[in-house]
Amino acid sequence: MTSLQTRRMSRSSWIESHRPCPTRSRTTAIRNVTTIVIGAGHAGLAMSRCLCDRSIDHVVFERGEIAHTWRTERWDSLRLLTPNWQSRLPAFHYDGNDPDGYRTVTEVIEFIASYAKAISAPVLTNTTVTSVRSTEAGYLVRTDQDDWLCRAVVIASGACNVADVPSFANKVPRPITQLTAQDYRNPEQLADGGVWSSAHPRAVLRSPTKYIARAARLPCRWASIFERRAFIVAKT
Ligand SMILES: Cc1cc2nc3c(=O)[nH]c(=O)nc-3n(C[C@H](O)[C@H](O)[C@H](O)COP(=O)(O)OP(=O)(O)OC[C@H]3O[C@@H](n4cnc5c(N)ncnc54)[C@H](O)[C@@H]3O)c2cc1C
Repeated sequence: MTSLQTRRMSRSSWIESHRPCPTRSRTTAIRNVTTIVIGAGHAGLAMSRCLCDRSIDHVVFERGEIAHTWRTERWDSLRLLTPNWQSRLPAFHYDGNDPDGYRTVTEVIEFIASYAKAISAPVLTNTTVTSVRSTEAGYLVRTDQDDWLCRAVVIASGACNVADVPSFANKVPRPITQLTAQDYRNPEQLADGGVWSSAHPRAVLRSPTKYIARAARLPCRWASIFERRAFIVAKT
């Protein structure tokens, strides 16, 4: 057991210590905690680790499973644009033998899930935050499970979770299939015919009239830095 883990409570003892106060209730009770983190992606988990370093009690709410957006909103053949050595989180980094490689989606999910485990992050999965309101003492955070009071809220719900579909999308002729990057999984979703492939995730999200074929993404910023081999790996 690491020194970090010894400073942490087990999940069961944490839940026990945050038992709801039975008198303040929307349906059953309102719970109390110092800080609430919304989202168990990279950012939310890194924040959890930093809060733990400062002995600040907190809970991380995640609407699905840990690394939910990587599990549900990425296409099958996606590889990170960023090399393995560059994927670091507080007190956690790549320790494999391919530092210049590019992770698959499955490997990204494993990396994030391993991190949550390594830091014993107090994540409550399948809990969606539905509203945050300020109160005199802090914030009232409502979820689809319970209501919570806290002094601080960290919103780590992601920046790419809502497809930005421009208004002209509904003027595109019906025979043309439109897919955002969130919905695209593999070429089997597309009918035979012309396909436009985007090289950048934001371009895909913002260009619903265009299509992705095999998710060939070139690491644009690293072109002059890394050897060609790395680009070929990223393209396949
Ligand atoms: C197609 C695509 C490709 C990308 N490729 C790369 C890459 O190659 N390299 C790179 O460095 N970055 C890449 N990114 C960016 C990367 O995904 C983000 O930078 C990273 O995931 C941000 O982490 P995050 O924790 O801020 O957000 P997320 O990973 O999105 O995590 C947010 C979490 O919050 C949860 N959540 C949201 N709303 C609620 C709610 N109301 N209640 C509870 N939980 C909630 C979500 O379920 C999710 O788990 C890519 C993004 C996209 C869309």
